[in-house]
Formats: sequence, structure tokens, C-alpha cells
Amino acid sequence: MNQSIDVRNFFSIFGVVCIVLGCIGSIVLAFAMGTDIHGERNGMLTLVVFLVGACASLFWGFLCFAIVQALDCLEGINYNLKKTSDNTQSIGEADQLEKDLSSGKRWKCPECGKIYMSYETSCMVCGISKPR
Ligand SMILES: [Zn+2]
Repeated sequence: MNQSIDVRNFFSIFGVVCIVLGCIGSIVLAFAMGTDIHGERNGMLTLVVFLVGACASLFWGFLCFAIVQALDCLEGINYNLKKTSDNTQSIGEADQLEKDLSSGKRWKCPECGKIYMSYETSCMVCGISKPR
């Protein structure tokens, strides 16, 4: 549980860092590379370098966010599955106990309420005999 939260935090931070550093890096790269061989600024080239860099960093950033979302979903599904199976099990057990009590397979101590199998003849807690 804690581990998956750590992984989510890691990817969230990594995603933000990707986008922020990627955008800053793209600007720096665009200014460094956006000149022609004469050293004059080429507006179009600057823009293209910046956009490519920004898109790449946004892609990786959002990929990280997508992983975080996926982990959230998986955890939610696991939690729901576990909850459903727990409920089913406890309902099944309660039903079974009710059946066993009415069929005489098990009996309930009238004094303390403890459940015994039919072959047990007295309550181990109160010492009273199995009621007939
Ligand atoms: Zn008892």
C-alpha cells in the first residue's frame, strides 16, 4: 500500500519535473540552435526547436500522469474486488451457520451464545449440557 503511494508520488513529481525542465530546456536549446550558419537568428528554426522540445517533454510528463492515473485505477479495482469477496464470504458464512443451527448440525449455548458442533455435548465455557 505504502509502496504504491511512493511510486505514485515519484511519477507525479517526475511528470512535473519533465514538463518544467523540458520547457526550460527547449527554450535554452531553441536559443542555442535557432541561428543559421552566419550566427543570425532564424525565427522559424527557433520556434520549431522549441516546439519539438516542449512537445517531447509534455509527452513524457503526461505519460507519467497517465501512469499515476492507471495505478489509482488498479488500486481502486483491487480494493473493490477485495471488499466484494469479503462481503460474499461473510454473508455465506452467516447463511451456513443459520442452516447448521436449524438443521441441528450445530448448536448454540443458551447461556453464553457460543456455537458448538452437534457431537459436543456441553458448553466448555459455562459447563451446561447441550439443550435437547
Ligand atoms: Zn455456554
